[in-house]
Order: sequence, then structure tokens, then C-alpha cells
Amino acid sequence: MRNFDCTIVGASCVGGMTAKAFAAKGLDVALLEEHSQPGKFNKCTALVSRSGLEKSGVDFRPTVLKEIHGAVIHGPRVSFSVTTKKPVAFVLDRQAFDEKCVAEAQKQGVELFLDSRAESLSKHDGNWNLSAGGNDFHSKVVVGCDGLSSFVAREGGFPAFPHFVSAWEAEFSYAQAPADKVHVFLDQALAQGFFAWTVPVDETTARVGLATINPSALNAGKSRLLQKLGLSDSNKKGREFNYSIPLFPREQTQKDTLLLVGDAAGQVKSTTGGGIAFGGYCGLKAADAVENYFKGNALDYEERWRGAFAKTFQLHWLLHSHLFSLPNYALDMALGFAKLSGVPFLLENFGDMDFIFRNRA
Ligand SMILES: Cc1cc2nc3c(=O)[nH]c(=O)nc-3n(C[C@H](O)[C@H](O)[C@H](O)COP(=O)(O)OP(=O)(O)OC[C@H]3O[C@@H](n4cnc5c(N)ncnc54)[C@H](O)[C@@H]3O)c2cc1C
Repeated sequence: MRNFDCTIVGASCVGGMTAKAFAAKGLDVALLEEHSQPGKFNKCTALVSRSGLEKSGVDFRPTVLKEIHGAVIHGPRVSFSVTTKKPVAFVLDRQAFDEKCVAEAQKQGVELFLDSRAESLSKHDGNWNLSAGGNDFHSKVVVGCDGLSSFVAREGGFPAFPHFVSAWEAEFSYAQAPADKVHVFLDQALAQGFFAWTVPVDETTARVGLATINPSALNAGKSRLLQKLGLSDSNKKGREFNYSIPLFPREQTQKDTLLLVGDAAGQVKSTTGGGIAFGGYCGLKAADAVENYFKGNALDYEERWRGAFAKTFQLHWLLHSHLFSLPNYALDMALGFAKLSGVPFLLENFGDMDFIFRNRA
């Protein structure tokens, strides 16, 4: 039996950032990972806002592959471009970033347990007992940073995700222009209910993918996307995967001293499927709440993160539900109207990848 203040399940980026923040508060933390290595093994585009990375406190610079200076938004026939002077986001080597987050947590004093799949969870006399990798972990607080199929959410009986999309991505030899922008394709024939993308990794490589609310349309969308881009399997460099993305937070992310953070909680922007920045932000909120709890106060993680970010998640959902359900002709009309009414200028000058409008943090 090992005793800790907190047991965190899942050593990917959010688990690493959360564990580091807990340890920085002086808490004794066990971080459990089911694999023999931390991380999500690159199953992610890993495009993260500059502000999100800077606020994370992680030394992310060594993991940056590409600086991004805007986006080209394509409808079926209409498109517009947004250009920023400073890099607005970075494309990361995701596995290196995950490992960095976890290494920084260890440096802060977190004890990492690899090959430790959380298998059972029970509560006795106010303490959690979690079995993983042949060890028993005893702690006051358990945090699930264990992603989409969260063990902690399942064992804790948390409500299911209200919405998610199915995604496919691979890396291709693809020299896109401009080479410092993300291309987003809104087209119901490619990606029903969501969008497709190309994200540059270097001058000759791009991450090409799509996500859809209709899993059975994924393969047809993939063929159409490759055809549209003039690509075939022979251009594929690898890194191919299918995965799902939760699009909105669960109705409940805290039960007593069981907390969910990151994808496990569904703390994801429903306009992009991006969860790294908000997972990190919510990990910091969890650390504040748990520090306060160990001082003898009520554990108010749910109130803290919802107080800070619930409106932002709702705003993303509002945009998602209005834009991504439009039929193709209406998508073109909406993009045409946006272009004429100065939306590119507004995005360039006042937009924020995470909070939609700047200075809303
Ligand atoms: C196609 C695609 C593209 C994406 N692109 C972006 C993007 O560009 N930008 C962005 O911000 N986000 C993106 N995302 C989302 C992003 O990948 C997630 O939001 C992010 O990985 C969440 O991190 P996490 O640490 O919460 O969960 P995960 O990265 O899923 O990590 C969960 C960890 O828990 C471990 N684990 C699970 N169960 C157990 C258990 N029982 N015991 C022990 N360990 C366990 C896993 O092994 C893993 O290490 C994308 C997702 C997909 C699918």
C-alpha cells in the first residue's frame, strides 16, 4: 500500500500539467500511466494556441515543429484567409510535448508509475484505494486525466459525454500554400457536422485529417478529401490513426473527492476539437481547489473551472451548432457574408483561438 495526498490517473499532457501544478502546491502526488511510456503516442494534430502554451508554464519550445500565422477557411466554393503578424499557434511534436509535461511533473516531485493501468477503485473511511500495476494507491483525492475512455469516470458513475466526433488523420508529403497557415474545409460532403483540415509540419509535410458526427461517413469523406488535395496513399508518410473527440464537458466532473480533468471531463473546444489548452487551464483550477481542500475547506473544483470557463465552452458550442450543421449552399453564403462584413479583420485583430475574443481569460 502506497499513501499519497492525490492519485492522478493518466500521464499524457493534461495528467502531466495537472500533476505538476498539484506538486507545486506541496501536495504528494502519484501519477499512474497504463503504458510503459507517458503520452498519447501522437494521436493528435497538436496545434495549440500560443497563449494556451505560454499559460501552461511548460517549457514547450523544444517541442515546436512549426509556427502558425493564421488560417484559410474554405467553404465548398467560397474561402477567406486570416493572417496574423505574430504566431498565433504552434504545431507540436505531441509525443515530445507529453513527455515534457510528465518530466516537468517528476522534477516538481511527482512520483510516476508506468505500466500501471488503474483497475479498481473503492473508498474506505474517507480515503480512496486504487489498484494499478500490482500496487494499491491510498489517497484522499483521485483525479482522472485518463482521456476519452476514462476509467475514473466509469468507476465514479459520471454522466456520459453529450457530444463527440469521430476523426481520422495521417501525415502526408504535401507542400501546402501558404506554408504557415492551417487550412480548414467546411463541406458536408467531406466532413458532415464538423470539418477537414491540413496543418503544416514543415515545408513538405502536412497533417491531413477530418472529423465528423457521422462515423459511417468517415471513409467516404477521407477519399473525397484526398482527391480534393490531389493526394493518395502513396503520399502518406505514416502517423495514421482514428480516434474520437468529446466535444462538450460532461454534466458533472466532480463527485466528492473524485475529479475529472481534460478529455476525461470533455473540456474541449467544440469549434475545433482542441483540448490541450483547456485541459491545462482546468488542471490549474483543480490544483487551486485541492490545495484549498487540504487546508480544511470544501472541495470546489467544479465551481472553479465552470466559473472561469463554462461560458466559453457554451460560446464554442453556439458557434459549432450554428455553423457546422449548415448545408453546403448556406456554408458558402455564411462564409461569403463573413468575408464581406469584415470577419477576417476582426479575427486578425480581436480573435482568440481559445476564448474567441481576446482578453477574456
Ligand atoms: C484527430 C485529433 C486531432 C486533435 N488535434 C488537436 C489539436 O490540434 N489541438 C488540441 O489542443 N487538441 C487536439 N486534439 C485533442 C487532444 O488530443 C486531447 O484534447 C488531449 O489529448 C487531451 O489530453 P488528456 O491528457 O486529457 O488525454 P489523453 O491524451 O487521451 O491521455 C490520457 C492518458 O491516460 C492514460 N490512461 C487511460 N486509461 C488509463 C488507466 N485505466 N490507467 C492508467 N492510465 C490510463 C492513457 O494511456 C493516456 O496516457 C485532437 C484529437 C484528435 C483525436
